[in-house]
Amino acid sequence: MTIKDEQQPLHILFFPFLAPGHLIPVADMAALFAARGVRCSILTTSANAAVIRSAVDRANDSFRGSGGGLAIDLVVVPFPDVGLPPGAESGTALSSQEDRDRFFLAIMRLREPFDRFLSENRADAVVVGSFFRWAAEAAAEHSVPHLGFLGTSVFARSCTNSVVCNNPMEAAPEDPDAVVTLPGLPHRVELRRSQMMDPKKRPDHWELLKSINSASQRSFGELFNSFHELEPDYVEHYRTTLGRRSWLVGPVALANKDAAVRGTSELSPDADGYLRWLDAKPHGSVVYVSFGTLSSFSPAEMRELARGLDLSGRNFVWVINGADADASEWMPEGFPQLISPRGERGLTIQGWAPQMLILNHPAVGGFVTHCGWNSTLEAVTAGVPLVTWPRYADQFYNEKLITEVLKVGVGVGSMDFASKLENRRVVIGGEVVAGAIGRVMGEGEEGEAIRKKAAELGAKARGALEKGGSSYDDVGRLMDELMARRSSFNV
Ligand code: UDP
Repeated sequence: MTIKDEQQPLHILFFPFLAPGHLIPVADMAALFAARGVRCSILTTSANAAVIRSAVDRANDSFRGSGGGLAIDLVVVPFPDVGLPPGAESGTALSSQEDRDRFFLAIMRLREPFDRFLSENRADAVVVGSFFRWAAEAAAEHSVPHLGFLGTSVFARSCTNSVVCNNPMEAAPEDPDAVVTLPGLPHRVELRRSQMMDPKKRPDHWELLKSINSASQRSFGELFNSFHELEPDYVEHYRTTLGRRSWLVGPVALANKDAAVRGTSELSPDADGYLRWLDAKPHGSVVYVSFGTLSSFSPAEMRELARGLDLSGRNFVWVINGADADASEWMPEGFPQLISPRGERGLTIQGWAPQMLILNHPAVGGFVTHCGWNSTLEAVTAGVPLVTWPRYADQFYNEKLITEVLKVGVGVGSMDFASKLENRRVVIGGEVVAGAIGRVMGEGEEGEAIRKKAAELGAKARGALEKGGSSYDDVGRLMDELMARRSSFNV
């Protein structure tokens, strides 16, 4: 290696999958590496760049202000013309199977700008959303180490690996309530058949999961937005038993320089008002309800959730997704009074909520969540216990981690694995929702034990990224490996 090479900082290209739940943590991750002196480029399309531009700008401002860190470069490329409406460039914009198919065609076509970037720029590694199934091969063609990022927990990744390698559903009875055991994991993990993706109904997605699994075995490794102390048995399982190289670098949200603008270009003008509303509430008295960016609820589900919040007797902040039904279709009697300015019991947010600020507000004492991994980890980091209501993807696995392994939450009994394009059999009743909130936030031994455990995990989460913490060290370990690889190529 020449002296000139040694002086050049590492350069990592990040290419996140096109959904806010991937873009947001990848922008945070880039900020984390940039703060450690790595040159970071994030390649994405214009509508997706808008989701992270504010966060990237704030990170760059803070580096300029402190004199430390290297500026993150946001590289914007056109979204391929696949017949989707203008601006429909991410998972949030898809409302039919046809749109979904077009979107995945665009995902395939994005190989061209990715290849071009690597031909024109020298990179020491690429961190690529694992759903870009061509990326491991493309990176190999450019002789650049490929790091996959699936945006989930090591626990869920291990569950997916178990399911893909063993297909335990094949031998299970067709009955949706049949119990399926996932083989080869450190704990006994069991799900109902209805809570799992059926390979026969979603052969395309099943093939995608299989290709992600095989790509991960050919890659340099995988990055996780998680930390060792959260899931040590699964880190050991993944690294040692399965022999997969992996680095845990989270909770990446802690790298964010301004939680108010995280994930949005236009923060709701009412954001300050939400925080003032919370300021007026007693410590731990508010339940926060949000289901991320891709889930939607039917009118019947919305009605029961609203009843549940009412019956729980707790204060609440409920983020209502734009894709959810019109209020006239679901709002139960008496509910408008709860959220009226004088009602004072609840606040509904239509649009983007400053989730990190809300979760970290002392008034918040519980979080009703769909168990998206970012939301889950953000709550863990804030020390907030969870009420779990998984819908699809990795969410049922994350629920198991929360309720059975970490014991920082209780479930509402969600039974149907179904995306927003699919139907579900069961509508969870308001009484059940209220009961689960009561178990997590109420008096009594169970709630106290859950809250104590959540607070302990929160402290460990915050320690992981401090100097000498497990994630801080994993970032350093990866940087050392990439630098060593550069030297071995140049001797
Ligand atoms: N989020 C937010 N405000 C909102 C909705 C979502 O800040 O109003 C953020 C949330 O903090 C998390 C991400 O969007 O970082 C959602 O990711 P998650 O994995 O929880 O769910 P997904 O949307 O991918 O299902």
